[in-house]
Amino acid sequence: MIRLTDIKLDLNHQAHELQDAILERLQISEEQLVNFSMFKRGYDARRKNAIVLIYTLDVDTKVNTELLAKFSNVSNIKETPDTSYKFVAQAPDNLPQRPVVIGMGPCGLFVGLVLAQMGFKPIILERGKEVRERTKDTFGFWRKKILNTESNVQFGEGGAGTFSDGKLYSQVKDPKHYSRKVLHEFVNAGAPEEILYVSKPHIGTFKLVTMVEQMRAKIHELGGEVRFSQRVDDIEIANEQVQSLTLATGEKIETNYIALAIGHSARDTFKMLFNKGVYIKAKPFSVGFRIEHEQSVIDDARFGKNAGHPILGAADYKLVHHCKNGRSVYSFCMCPGGTVVAAASEEGRLVTNGMSQYSRHERNANSAIVVGISPEDYPGDVLAGIEFQRRLEETAFKLGGASYDAPTQLVGDFLAGRASGEHGDVVPSYKPGVTYCDLSETLPQYAIDAIREAIPAFERKIKGFSMKDATLTAVETRTSSPIQITRDKELLTSLNTKGLYPAGEGAGYAGGILSAGIDGIKVAEAMAIAMMKNF
Ligand code: FAD
Repeated sequence: MIRLTDIKLDLNHQAHELQDAILERLQISEEQLVNFSMFKRGYDARRKNAIVLIYTLDVDTKVNTELLAKFSNVSNIKETPDTSYKFVAQAPDNLPQRPVVIGMGPCGLFVGLVLAQMGFKPIILERGKEVRERTKDTFGFWRKKILNTESNVQFGEGGAGTFSDGKLYSQVKDPKHYSRKVLHEFVNAGAPEEILYVSKPHIGTFKLVTMVEQMRAKIHELGGEVRFSQRVDDIEIANEQVQSLTLATGEKIETNYIALAIGHSARDTFKMLFNKGVYIKAKPFSVGFRIEHEQSVIDDARFGKNAGHPILGAADYKLVHHCKNGRSVYSFCMCPGGTVVAAASEEGRLVTNGMSQYSRHERNANSAIVVGISPEDYPGDVLAGIEFQRRLEETAFKLGGASYDAPTQLVGDFLAGRASGEHGDVVPSYKPGVTYCDLSETLPQYAIDAIREAIPAFERKIKGFSMKDATLTAVETRTSSPIQITRDKELLTSLNTKGLYPAGEGAGYAGGILSAGIDGIKVAEAMAIAMMKNF
């Protein structure tokens, strides 16, 4: 196969123009072309009234070898690389012990799936409930303000990204094409095929729920075991080697191989690991607000007369501003046509995040507008970042009325430094509800100053961004993990605890669904290789 990159066509091009572009690029006749498929489709909307689609195509012709030789010096005509996934090991039937995976977010799911596919029969332990039960608890919290601290937006089958926009792209380096494996497994589990070729795929919340169930069924079929409401409360370490773990129920499971895919909100588990002496270091993260605009404002600003085009869908944005006080403010986890969600996992603390359905048809666009902070901002031990997050979450909870209603302010009032009393054109989507107030107490002054400077700067990139009726909802604290559980670069085990494999977002090695899945594959491979070596 031959891969053609950078084929640019007008947004409204006719179907036959794609084939015409191939024939022209390769200088071949229609008879010489066998078939072609789309590897990637992106768009360039820098000129919003002249948007261009950019294709990467895989083409089969009757003269592949000749063409590859003829165009050997042309950068956008190359042989299609082999991106298929190859397993690194196959477990023998008489393997003396089973690997254990703690956590069934995207990272734990892929550690478990890939280990199961290689015959290692993993045991996956998840503190939350199976995804349908978890959905009831989460929606119950949003409707009735009853928080289940073990079953919510952060905890339960599918992990933190289950009630999300389901964006499936990442900027991590991926020389081994693990992202293709993640996307193919998602498609096998029911995701739309388009995630394999659109440049910014997303699947939305409800599809994710079904996919997670399908993947669990596959792990079972392959001899793996998935156990819910099984919180790991302790791990036993002797001679710098993991020996076993203990569940909240008191049950002990012996194993020398544990993947730690616990996400960024397992604060109790972080503390347990810290007390055990597992190497952990503090790392930078970000805090801020969720901002909401009407989606039509973003569509008009990004796509002009092409707003609403079916190929483009609801418009997104990505913004960054470097402030005079040395801080950077950026948009994060933008959810076109979605809602702001209550993402708390601890009583008396309030956290926001965003989600959407596959259709992205809700009225508002939302994103986190966050300020980068580093351990120097919260002196203390390596877990001080968690206490810093907690203080902000408690302040937001109290300001919202101590009932999980979120404190909210209109952008115009925030910029003018006065409290808000009611909504304007943009009706905030956060459930259970919002309390209008002054948000300036919810973040440190340097962060408030930075966001006040950034919003007008973002207006220069997205017209309408600083409109007075846009709303800010507090507080966004769980953008990434405040710690890193350090690991060996090649073996992927903890630096001082053999057999413990820190993985995914909570351990500081991923920042999203796709990158967590990719890290899960890497960790599964490292565990399989180690188990085979010691067999
Ligand atoms: P998690 O998904 O957090 O999973 C960790 C799991 O471990 C949890 O299920 C937890 O219950 C379990 N666990 C923790 N401690 C224990 C213990 N002691 N014993 C047993 N189990 C334990 N990313 C994107 O790429 N695109 C998006 O659109 C997107 N939207 C998001 C929307 C929301 C509302 C949220 C909260 C996050 C969103 N993210 C999104 C981020 C993404 O969800 C995370 O980056 C990703 O889920 C991290 O995967 P993980 O497996 O490392 O951790």
